[in-house]
Amino acid sequence: MKLSEYQRLFTRNIAKLIEFAYKNGLELTFGEAYRTNEQQLIYVQSGKSKTMNSDHLKRLAVDFNVFVNNQLTYDWNTIKILGDFWETLHPANRWGGDWNKNDIKDGFIDTPHFEMHV
Ligand SMILES: [Zn+2]
Repeated sequence: MKLSEYQRLFTRNIAKLIEFAYKNGLELTFGEAYRTNEQQLIYVQSGKSKTMNSDHLKRLAVDFNVFVNNQLTYDWNTIKILGDFWETLHPANRWGGDWNKNDIKDGFIDTPHFEMHV
């Protein structure tokens, strides 16, 4: 599969994730999706990101601001329902709250982040 084909599948699955969120009482606004190498380097140097191989550089990741009852939240337990659903949409999908898909809160946690890691 070509990168462009993965990008289109990713975008379609993000639409499904957004619908699922609203059906479950979570509202979303967009954070970053596509990111330049220059911006990624700034994040790595400041510790906000751990890698120069981010899927944001390939248009295969998006960060959402999640709202519950009009309140912005980064709470792992609240957002996990989205991570679990996201993983059902494609085997390559990963949630930043559970990179290794072990269902526990460990390691580097990035709850707003959803990616297709191919
Ligand atoms: Zn991200």
